[in-house]
Amino acid sequence: MGKISSRLSRIKPSPTLSVTQKAQELKARGIDVISFSAGEPDFDTPPHIVDAAVRALHDGVTRYTAVAGLPKLREAVAAQSQSVRGVPCAAKQVIVSTGAKHALYGFFQAVLNAGDEVVIPAPYWVSYPDQVLLAGGEPKIAATRAEDDWVLTPDALDRAVTPRTVAVVINTPSNPTGGLYTREAIAAITRRALELRLWIVADEIYRDLIYDGMCHVSPLAVAGEGRERVFVVDGVSKTYAMTGWRIGWGIGDPEVIAAMSTIQGQATSNAASMCQAAALAAITSPADFLDGWRAEYAARRDAMVRGLNEMPGVTCRKPRGAFYVLPCVQEICARMGSGTTDVELATYLLEQGRVATVPGSAFGAPGYIRLSYATSMRNIEEGLKRVAEAFAKL
Ligand code: PMP
Repeated sequence: MGKISSRLSRIKPSPTLSVTQKAQELKARGIDVISFSAGEPDFDTPPHIVDAAVRALHDGVTRYTAVAGLPKLREAVAAQSQSVRGVPCAAKQVIVSTGAKHALYGFFQAVLNAGDEVVIPAPYWVSYPDQVLLAGGEPKIAATRAEDDWVLTPDALDRAVTPRTVAVVINTPSNPTGGLYTREAIAAITRRALELRLWIVADEIYRDLIYDGMCHVSPLAVAGEGRERVFVVDGVSKTYAMTGWRIGWGIGDPEVIAAMSTIQGQATSNAASMCQAAALAAITSPADFLDGWRAEYAARRDAMVRGLNEMPGVTCRKPRGAFYVLPCVQEICARMGSGTTDVELATYLLEQGRVATVPGSAFGAPGYIRLSYATSMRNIEEGLKRVAEAFAKL
């Protein structure tokens, strides 16, 4: 009998975290590494949000809260959802969890039965397949194309579904592609998914980080009567630079939210009380700083896309959201020798170029690498110089 449960044999540790760890090891040895692997803003949490948490601590917000979150926060999330997605939302449709990741985890645990399939468009955020597996489900990976802005089309969904399919994940804007569904694209996929009677899991954690005057459209906004089948994941991590506070939420059918509360009540109970107070301040006070951050992200993205496209053998699309680019590096891999993978290329970049990136294979996108531009313009310039030099040596 093994020490570890057989359930664990179905999943693997997060590959993005292991690259970050390798980069940290090099840094600890005194080697100066430029990291393009971060999945979090490099900005600090704005002071008025930090102050709200400190005030909460002094005011005694240091005890258990209701499992599904502080009533005031659930109400504020519902009000925010109503205003940004344009459909009515009540507090009982909201569960506050320990990060958006935990809300997603709770959803899959609450709705999936053994063998239920979930369609996950590739390239995908690394946790979707493993969370589905942990809940006893089966991930069904559906390819999307760079020339479609990495959007899942109704045809591609049709090709992936079987009688066992119960859900499809839509992440807009996307990690790792930065791809954004237009209103038409979101309406088309939402319509088809609802015709197929699927759950739509809408991961909207990057919905505030969109550039070029484009806007976010949620499946919830276009689902009409089918909106009970939409489960939204959102939170404060990316928008407000609050990744360490671990506050995210799910918005959906009250019955599912109640089931998720039961699970959460036996696992973590409430998310940290003072962090909930901070999240409440974040979403209820003016976010004046955001325009500046967005402008900064957009300028960094432009520098990154330009710099990468100047490298012979690299092609990089200009993404509309989040803070990642996903250039195609197939030609560079081929230069290293036939059969060379993006994993070997990323390792070469780290060890020889002293630049940390994440191999696309981690996201179901072999032949690509992901670079995060949530880092300073100086780092971007220096890092791109190193990448160009490392590629030129091949
Ligand atoms: N969804 C996506 C697409 C993400 O990139 C991340 C964070 N990397 C999350 C969810 C999880 O966010 P949180 O830190 O709030 O758990």
